[in-house]
Amino acid sequence: MMEKLRNAEKINAISQLAASVAHEIRNPMTTVRGFLQMLKNEKNLTADQKTFIKVSLEELDRTNHIISDFLLLARPETSVASKVSLSGLLLEVADFMRPYGLMTKVEIRTSIFEGIFIMGNPNEIKQLFINLMKNSIEAMPDGGILEVSAFKRNTTADIQIKDEGVGMSKEKLQMLGQPYYSTKTKGTGLGLMISFDIINRLKGKYLIESTQNKGTSFTISLPLYYSPEEIRQPSFQNMSGGQR
Ligand code: ADP
Ligand code: MG
Repeated sequence: MMEKLRNAEKINAISQLAASVAHEIRNPMTTVRGFLQMLKNEKNLTADQKTFIKVSLEELDRTNHIISDFLLLARPETSVASKVSLSGLLLEVADFMRPYGLMTKVEIRTSIFEGIFIMGNPNEIKQLFINLMKNSIEAMPDGGILEVSAFKRNTTADIQIKDEGVGMSKEKLQMLGQPYYSTKTKGTGLGLMISFDIINRLKGKYLIESTQNKGTSFTISLPLYYSPEEIRQPSFQNMSGGQR
C-alpha cells in the first residue's frame, strides 16, 4: 500500500515536470536538428565530420524519444473516453509493430476475437499495447514469436501478450513499474509505469508471468463496454451482481 502511494506521488511529480519542461526543450532541439541537417549536406566534409554529424543527429533523436515518453505522462485533463473496438485497435497496433519486430526476426501472431468493445481513450489504449509489444520484441533480440490474443470472458476483455524472450527473475518482476527502472542501455524505464497507470484508469487488472530464458506473458483484463440499454436489462444485473 505504501509502495503504491509513493508511486502515485512520483507519477504526479513526473507528470507536472513533463508538462512544463518537455515542450520547452523540444523547440531549441528542432533548431539544432535543422542546422545539423544543413551541415550534413555540405560538400567537402571529412569522414570524421560526417560521423560526428550522424552521431549528433542520432543522439538528438534519442533525446526526442525520451521526451516523447515523458509527454505521455503529461496527458491533458481533457482526455476523453469513448467506445473503442479493442479487436480493431489490437490488430492495428500489431500491424504497426510488425516492422519493428522484423528487425530482429520477431514474428507477431494474432488471435483476436471480433467485436470486443471497451470504454477508454483510444490513444492511451494504443500506447498501452505499443509499450507491451515493444518490450516483448526487445526481449527477443535473436527472434521468436510474439503472440497477441484477446477474447471476451464474462464482463471483461482478456488480452494476452506473450513472448519467448529473455524473461525476468522474481527480483526483476518486483521492480516493474518503478519509474526509471530499466535494464536496457537505451531504455527509459517509463514504459511500464505508464502502462500500469493506463490499466488502472481503465479499471483493469493485470497478471505477469515470466520465466528466465523462456519468456514472459502479460495478461490484462479490462471491463467490457456495455450500452446504457444493456445495463438496464435485468439479465445484465444478475450477471454482474455481486462482482466488482
Ligand atoms: P524500458 O523498456 O525503457 O526499459 P519499461 O518500463 O518498458 O522500460 O520496462 C522496464 C524493464 O522491464 C525493462 O528494461 C526490462 O528489463 C523489463 N521487461 C519489461 N517487459 C519485459 C519482457 N516482455 N520480457 C523481459 N523483460 C521485460
Ligand atoms: Mg519499454
